[in-house]
Amino acid sequence: MVDPDFTVRFWGVRGSIACPGPDTIRYGGNTSCVEMRCGEHLLIFDGGSGLRPLGQELLRTAHSLDFDLFYSHTHFDHIVGLPFFAPCYDARSHIRIWAGHLKPNSGIEAVLGKMMSPPLFPIPIDIFAATLEFRDFSAGDALTPCPGITLETGPLNHPNGATGYRLEFNGKAVAYITDTEHQPGALDPNVMRLIDHADVMIYDATYTDDEYPTHHDWGHSTWQQGVRLADAAAVDRLILFHHDPEHDDAFMDRVAADAAKARPGTVVAYEGLVLRP
Ligand SMILES: [Zn+2]
Ligand SMILES: [Zn+2]
Repeated sequence: MVDPDFTVRFWGVRGSIACPGPDTIRYGGNTSCVEMRCGEHLLIFDGGSGLRPLGQELLRTAHSLDFDLFYSHTHFDHIVGLPFFAPCYDARSHIRIWAGHLKPNSGIEAVLGKMMSPPLFPIPIDIFAATLEFRDFSAGDALTPCPGITLETGPLNHPNGATGYRLEFNGKAVAYITDTEHQPGALDPNVMRLIDHADVMIYDATYTDDEYPTHHDWGHSTWQQGVRLADAAAVDRLILFHHDPEHDDAFMDRVAADAAKARPGTVVAYEGLVLRP
């Protein structure tokens, strides 16, 4: 019998750089990391600084340490948590690490190895006691990390590339779409395919439409574009994600109010938010 429980939990909701402090305490200062549990199976999306507290929780709860980690891409804000992820230092762990934006010129093992090499980091990735499997794919491939879970992927519009995901389990669909930039006035067909009738759509809402003109070509989108996409694709719940570190709690409260007015049910992601698709 498959455990039907499907939960999504946010451990880091920021983009660019962690920004802890009194002005970001309610939404949180850690960078991108989202835990999805599909019955017994654990899938992690991105390993930003939010990966560290997730690792502590995994060891504390003694949950199975066999799981998959999917990277949207390998900019620092999405990978910086790995050297501080406790399961990597535990020989019981078996971690499959996936990325879809590096082939054919590089691969995820080489890129993470570079991050963990002197003089950037004092200890090499070989120090990990966990069993690691590195799996490079091409954004657009369909993945089946384990029976009962399907994962559609697609390329996003971001410097150096990024991968969007659509996870389906038990008749529900969750889309994880960060980091990506839209073309004003257009709906990205790659994104539309991944979010079509999704129950939950997690979207790069780094900016507002007012801020966007001065951040053109930075590789990020706006909450208003998230609303336009979600409406066009008949998404159930839109979750705004990858907040700009310049946006303090008061700013995010205003975004939350404006977005809920524009599309009732829209939620600004915060650390600790748990969803049941
Ligand atoms: Zn980012
Ligand atoms: Zn990025």
